[in-house]
Amino acid sequence: MESSNTRSAAGAATLKRAARRGRASIAAILAVALTVMAAPGRAETPAPGATPAPASSWLRCGALWDGRGGRTQGPVLIEVRGERIASVRAAGGAAPAGPVTDLSALTCLPGLIDTHTHVLLQGDITAADYDEQLLKQSPEYRTILATVNARRALSWGFTSIRDLETEGAGYADVDVKRAIENGVIPGPRMQVATRSMDVTGAYPLLGYAPGIAVPKGVQEVDGADGGRRAVREQLSHGADWIKVYADRNYRVLPNGVLDDIPTFTLEELRAIVDESHRQRHKVAAHAMALYGVHNAVEAGVDTIEHGDYIADDDLKAMVAKGIYYVPTIFVGEYVAEGRAKAGAPQWLAMRDIHEQTFRRALKAGVKIAFGTDVGGFDWRINPAGEFAFMVRYGMTPEQALKAATVVAAELMGVSDRLGTIEAGKLADIVAVPGDPLADVTRLEHVRFVMKGGVTYPAAEPAP
Ligand SMILES: [Zn+2]
Repeated sequence: MESSNTRSAAGAATLKRAARRGRASIAAILAVALTVMAAPGRAETPAPGATPAPASSWLRCGALWDGRGGRTQGPVLIEVRGERIASVRAAGGAAPAGPVTDLSALTCLPGLIDTHTHVLLQGDITAADYDEQLLKQSPEYRTILATVNARRALSWGFTSIRDLETEGAGYADVDVKRAIENGVIPGPRMQVATRSMDVTGAYPLLGYAPGIAVPKGVQEVDGADGGRRAVREQLSHGADWIKVYADRNYRVLPNGVLDDIPTFTLEELRAIVDESHRQRHKVAAHAMALYGVHNAVEAGVDTIEHGDYIADDDLKAMVAKGIYYVPTIFVGEYVAEGRAKAGAPQWLAMRDIHEQTFRRALKAGVKIAFGTDVGGFDWRINPAGEFAFMVRYGMTPEQALKAATVVAAELMGVSDRLGTIEAGKLADIVAVPGDPLADVTRLEHVRFVMKGGVTYPAAEPAP
């Protein structure tokens, strides 16, 4: 049954349309108002121009993990109406009225969420790989490639992503997001961070002769006022998140601590965080080591990205302040060998430090969200490989799955509509063969993808 809320909304929309056309006679307004006020259950003639209630379609799942607690259940039916989930019930009893998609060989899950991606980047292991993209590819060409990456993400079951900076491609992420929202190209729901910020002289491209103007992978920002100005500028051009680089130049100290050079001063970071929060936006901090993490936590950012080393006191502060940890393990493993060969052997030791940090964070009760940094590694590699590392580093498969659904939805502030499978939420649903709670690598084999009630091609064909 169509809810009275939907009906009121449809009636109001009809009124607005009629008023815009200048044909809103009192009789027409009364007719619509009466329809809106009609008692539930009474047979009605839809108001002129009202969208008819979408018919139900059904998914028959072999098993379900809904993200609301509890184990995978027996065969279930998910009813989808329009872009939302209308009901979830055990299979059996009366046959559903409407078309049924047979996923009885698969386990259904909420759509996966990757909270750290770069659709505008094609994988960079060395500085030369990175420079090449900024120097020899136009932003327009990189945006075309980004549309392919967005489609890949969706086909792997990532129905939402938080894209954390364009790496020199300006505000192209806002356009990719818009094209997806307008149905021009397939892709996940996106929150975007646009240009990101770092201090002068800290972020590539670097090392060119002083007289040669080269593009930068970030917006260079200095001073508290400069930070506020950059936040205002990026938000005005469509940034959902503000991203800052809190540190650089990593080295492993003899006591096993990962040391860094902090970029922004605490005063600068505080100004950026304050300006973002004042405008109801959140801040993500790239912070990989001792001082960067400490300053970012102290300034009150909302998420710590990478966090290869985090001191115990900072983990405690993260718990107290509700700051999320997005560990991006897979990319570190992926780039370590190449970067070591290119003359930075500390990346090998950083893998072990990262594992110990992850285990300490888990024990301390820090909120850990799934994020991969895909784009930092090649988009032809399925970023769901991150799940296996989270489990290898101490999570249960269910904790890892929660990190990519329930927790990631909280991080993105969309828990009211995404992150679980239940009536009323958006129908973002994926399905995998086997039991991902027994073998988390099953999540690398998504065979069914639905976003907002619409089915998209999965990377692997349905059985
Ligand atoms: Zn990144």
